[in-house]
Amino acid sequence: MKRFVFSLIVVYSFCFMFGMFGQVSAASSPTLFLDGKQIATDVDPVITKGTTLVPLAVISSQLGYEVHWNNELREVNIKNQSTEISLTIGNKIALVNNESYEILEAPFLLNNRTMVPIRFIAEVFGMKVDWKQSVSEVHITRPIVIAPDPEPSVTEKTTVINVYNENDATIHIEFTGEVSNPKVMELQNPRRVVVDFADTGFSPEIVNSFIQGKTEVSLEGYDFITKYRYSIFTADPLVARFVVELQDNTKYSLLQTENDVRITFSVPSDDDSEGEPTSPEDPVIIPPIDTKKVYHIVLDAGHGAKDPGAISKINGKKEKDFNLSAVLKLKAELDKHPQIKVHLTRSDDTFLELDERVAFAEKIPGVNVKADVFISIHANSFDNSTANGTETYYIRDNSKKLAETIHPHLIAGTGLTNRGVKTAGFKVIKATTMPAVLLEVGYMSNEKDVKALFDESVQQKLAQELTKGIKAYLNLQ
Ligand SMILES: [Zn+2]
Repeated sequence: MKRFVFSLIVVYSFCFMFGMFGQVSAASSPTLFLDGKQIATDVDPVITKGTTLVPLAVISSQLGYEVHWNNELREVNIKNQSTEISLTIGNKIALVNNESYEILEAPFLLNNRTMVPIRFIAEVFGMKVDWKQSVSEVHITRPIVIAPDPEPSVTEKTTVINVYNENDATIHIEFTGEVSNPKVMELQNPRRVVVDFADTGFSPEIVNSFIQGKTEVSLEGYDFITKYRYSIFTADPLVARFVVELQDNTKYSLLQTENDVRITFSVPSDDDSEGEPTSPEDPVIIPPIDTKKVYHIVLDAGHGAKDPGAISKINGKKEKDFNLSAVLKLKAELDKHPQIKVHLTRSDDTFLELDERVAFAEKIPGVNVKADVFISIHANSFDNSTANGTETYYIRDNSKKLAETIHPHLIAGTGLTNRGVKTAGFKVIKATTMPAVLLEVGYMSNEKDVKALFDESVQQKLAQELTKGIKAYLNLQ
């Protein structure tokens, strides 16, 4: 920014200096409209290779932005409170808040007027630009400013709460609040896709993790994309921006649901027809496609390896083996549902500390997202062999509904005595933060229970019933 400090001349003196020059007209000059009203310009706009350029004075006197001209550097600087565009005569690289953008036509001097690309500037400042070719008209529409309510209504702000990638194939963006239709632009050198979400901010956790105002994820060595970054593009109006750098042949698409947007990447197969080429001044707006959210479910088989859990005095069987067998069968059932993705804390006879199980659920390895549901499976034991039956435990308020929804299915699955839904501070359901339950499926110390626990058909029924319970909890068909 240092170079803007010296020799700045505001545009008003610039206009004054060059105001006496005569009008240059061309038969094909487009007419400019702002919010439906025609804008008069002392120099006609010109179209060069499909790009409309207007005299710089339009930007200040008509659109009302602060404009500076640096004669020495032949540089134009346009800004509002939060956004600063800098353009240089003859240079196709524009800077927006110090991020470079390639523009189709460089600003140039025409009869001592600085001609600047209107669409690029207007869109950076959040205006809508329509080109009506048949009548050669450029229509610029400013966003409607709604006066604040005397008593502001409590509306939830749209906030990005989580961003993660599945390798280089998908970037997930999760939101709270209503997701606005993203604006998508493709830019070159390097090739990248820019996705803007209007009226959208980031959670305090994400903002706190920004380094130099953004988060940048490098994916070197992958096939589709090389890196992506996200930041607050402008603060007023609030815009969240995602920029993904693509390999030359990578295709991308956006899938939008109520509170989740996915950008997916692929390379075209041989028989794919080439799409229309896009340019920085022709943003491609991809309409939302009705897709469904994927729920991440962590299943936790209690104990493992050196920690056998309860050992049955009746048949010598170990709790850890039942837990794992039950979890694997449940996973197989849940895997049949396209909206459910199951993650196992252990899939074999491995030992994990309780803290490791909690950490796994809080940030699932590979997807780096918190589980939507956590279910830990155990079997019980007691000195008195008459104790028997099935229990569901929860401890935190956000887990009560999960416990109450799943429990009837658990009972239906085991066919054992219903000991009810209970609260207890087991570490894995207390230290986690998502809805979490711990199932004590039956008693290893009771003859009837332990026989059922290790019965393949009971385990299968249990898996089917728990799947019904989980789907009911998630409102899935
Ligand atoms: Zn246990």
